[in-house]
Amino acid sequence: MVPALVVELEKRFQGGPTIQASLEWSATPGRVAVLFGPSGAGKTTVLRCLAGLDRPERGRILFHGEPWCDTQAGVFLPPQQRRVGLLFQDYALFPHLTAEQNVQYGLSHLPASERRERSRSLFALLHLEGLEQRGPRELSGGQQQRVALARALAIRPKLLLLDEPLSALDAPSREQLRGELRRLLREFGVPTLVVTHDRLEALALGDDLVAMEGGRVRQVGPVAEVFNHPVELAVARMTGFETVLPGRILRREEGLATVAVGPHALTVLEPAQAGDEVFVCLRAEDVTLGPPEAAPTSARNRLPCTVVSLVPEGALVRVALDAGFPLVARVTRFSREELGLAEGRPVTATFKAPAVRLV
Ligand code: ADP
Ligand code: MG
Repeated sequence: MVPALVVELEKRFQGGPTIQASLEWSATPGRVAVLFGPSGAGKTTVLRCLAGLDRPERGRILFHGEPWCDTQAGVFLPPQQRRVGLLFQDYALFPHLTAEQNVQYGLSHLPASERRERSRSLFALLHLEGLEQRGPRELSGGQQQRVALARALAIRPKLLLLDEPLSALDAPSREQLRGELRRLLREFGVPTLVVTHDRLEALALGDDLVAMEGGRVRQVGPVAEVFNHPVELAVARMTGFETVLPGRILRREEGLATVAVGPHALTVLEPAQAGDEVFVCLRAEDVTLGPPEAAPTSARNRLPCTVVSLVPEGALVRVALDAGFPLVARVTRFSREELGLAEGRPVTATFKAPAVRLV
């Protein structure tokens, strides 16, 4: 299949970093790709280049074969000719216009009846009826967010670009709108790129993931694939593998490999060859803690540890361990009580062979 969106670009900032983005995406109607990475990764820069607000020094952007930008051929389409819907972090609603005027802002070329019809259906779709005549300051954060989304959609965009759409909201509205936004994006049927640095948002919103770090695209694929099989250390870290350790493959038999990590030999279920230098990656959620004298379980890996620190995280507790190497686990508050976890106490950590990723 020919990818609908092809991006190969290089954007240099005077005295700053160079952003290099290379990606291909199917951009099918209603599909959502999340541009995910830490602050400063270059996500907003890629979005601005796609929108036509920034001009890359080198490269090209093709949408369904149409060149939006091709520095070699001297092609650069201005934003309005690309028909992209844009939503930025701070919504940037015009403060002196009503909600309805904001939504109709980009439609001045259309007859008044058509403008009214489009904004009426968007107010209904986004549950904003009754708020048409309010100014942005008379709307809640969540309502402003939806008015901004309505404005982005009013032009009937071919591609929707959302930059950290939920970051300006307080935590409860953010969690509520996360689920609602996913449903709405499916309903609109417009291919959408969403920028976020938030792992939960990436998981909640995305079908596909574009992992960016240090000004580069590191990995592109379905969200679950990138989260389960990161190809680079940077991607493993940002997708939540908190334990990352250097190791060496000792042997491989019957599909299982044995990796030397510090004083231990771990069993993993990944393709590898004896002698390979690897990084062993493990999620805190996949580590189970038990009493020091716990009976063996089916889990292949079983390490005696000492508790180094305990940090409460809501209903869970993050447990840093010394297993001869640093290891992180996460348990419920209940398990913490039950196991009597405290700094300096011995504990057994177990994890299954398939939980370990090698990078
Ligand atoms: P993200 O959205 O992932 O946080 P950005 O695309 O905003 O990252 O920025 C990527 C890098 O480019 C950062 O180091 C940032 O400081 C730099 N940068 C972005 N815009 C400019 C600019 N106009 N001038 C100079 N440096 C910039
Ligand atoms: Mg940004």
